[in-house]
Amino acid sequence: MDDCLFCKIGKKKIPSKLVYEDEEIFAFEDIQPQAPHHILICPRKHLISLTDANDEDAAVLGKLQLVAAKLAVARNLTDGYRTVLNNGRGAGQSVFHLHLHLLGGRDFRWPPG
Ligand code: 5GP
Ligand code: ZN
Repeated sequence: MDDCLFCKIGKKKIPSKLVYEDEEIFAFEDIQPQAPHHILICPRKHLISLTDANDEDAAVLGKLQLVAAKLAVARNLTDGYRTVLNNGRGAGQSVFHLHLHLLGGRDFRWPPG
């Protein structure tokens, strides 16, 4: 997707604070952090949202969570952290390239807003 913000970040056409990358996934600091640690973890494949994903995407969807866990351990978020995947405008999605939020470093309320 030529006009997708996160595809451009993944291809380093737009700068970001990259914290992890491999052949399938890249992760970078959120520009407007909602917690002391706020990282966005994306598949390189342009999926709009979970609704756009298929069975063939199962492995990479699982890997997003595992990368989040490794980043949380590396950042010593021992007291807890949250992973969030907003799907659709009604759920707060504003960038339509699937991404998992990793939030940590503060207390979180339940239910989420
Ligand atoms: P969503 O609302 O779609 O779940 O999350 C999109 C996230 O992308 C937001 O938290 C927003 O702050 C972040 N974001 C939007 N534009 C940019 C950008 O250009 N660079 C970075 N690093 N984050 C961005
Ligand atoms: Zn994209």
